Amino acid sequence: FFNAYMIREEDGQRQSSLVQLQEADLPDEEVLVAIQYSGLNYKDGLALCGQGIARRLPMVGGVDLVGEVVDGGSSDFKSGDKVLVNGWGLSELHWGGYSQFQRLKPDWLVRVPENFSELETMAIGTAGYTAMLCVMQLQANGVKPEDGEIVVTGAAGGVGSVAISLLSKLGYHVVASTGRPQTHDYLSALGATDFIDRKSLSEPGKPFQAERWAGGIDTVGDTTLANVLAQSKYQAVITCCGLAGGADLPASVLPFILRGVRLIGVDSVMAPQAIRQKAWDLLDKHLPREKLTELTQVEPMSKLGSLAEDIIAGRIRGRVVIDVNS
Ligand code: NAP
Repeated sequence: FFNAYMIREEDGQRQSSLVQLQEADLPDEEVLVAIQYSGLNYKDGLALCGQGIARRLPMVGGVDLVGEVVDGGSSDFKSGDKVLVNGWGLSELHWGGYSQFQRLKPDWLVRVPENFSELETMAIGTAGYTAMLCVMQLQANGVKPEDGEIVVTGAAGGVGSVAISLLSKLGYHVVASTGRPQTHDYLSALGATDFIDRKSLSEPGKPFQAERWAGGIDTVGDTTLANVLAQSKYQAVITCCGLAGGADLPASVLPFILRGVRLIGVDSVMAPQAIRQKAWDLLDKHLPREKLTELTQVEPMSKLGSLAEDIIAGRIRGRVVIDVNS
């Protein structure tokens, strides 16, 4: 028997708890992996708190995992290979990383990049890899450090913390939008140079405002994203990856048609392997390891219930790695 954290329905209500499974309980996929770490992402919080995400029950949670191949079947993976997975429907349609063992499709696996430890790959996790995808979009669309300020919303969360570390290393002037003034020292250490109060963006504003942002990474959505767009400079690029504040977008077309502002959607879950590989290579090149250590805490699976509530309530700072064997 081994431990897993499972979402089930009991008396019409979704419940999540630590359970014991056997290898025979695992899905019929080709590669058997002994998992070392998973992570806690906002989406994991939603899934464990019964707020959707899992489209099939019972479901082993955890959208990320890293571990060692035990049996690669007829795939290119051999016993002992170190592999990681981000997304691909884990915790939605397929059993995920909150388990000491999992069976997975070879197409989902990425080899652990040489210069990262297993712990570091999950400290980055889906949140950090998504932050990298957002930075890649700013760069691909021509936003340069000399163009001006880049706003990061939901700054003290997982995506926000890694985004700030990356942008600062790349020489951008980063303005952190946070609802937690107590995180200012932490965010400064990651590389934020200025702060704005979350409320100044989350309250409804005019559809067209004074120009400020050359670029942005938005993890919040709703009125926050609408205000970021309204404050964007001529031809600014704003990436949209999250909905921590809500899934609506009460915005006007004015920033697009009068300032040529570009809004770029970012999805990590179904991103093709070539883009994932590029993102991991760039994380290796640009993410300062000491900042990654600073923004990470490691917790056991037994704490997932309270951690899930904490991330949904916006109480988690940076990234939480889940040690599935402790
Ligand atoms: P997280 O660690 O919980 O960070 C979210 C941050 O947003 C919080 O730390 C908080 O930052 C802020 N926030 C929370 N509730 C808010 C509210 N009601 N109004 C305004 N701000 C609020 O979550 P995460 O893992 O970084 O993920 C962030 C978002 O990105 C989530 O919506 C997640 O689903 C999404 N995401 C999407 C993808 C993708 O593929 N598109 C991948 C990863 C994540 P402050 O305290 O600093 O204000």
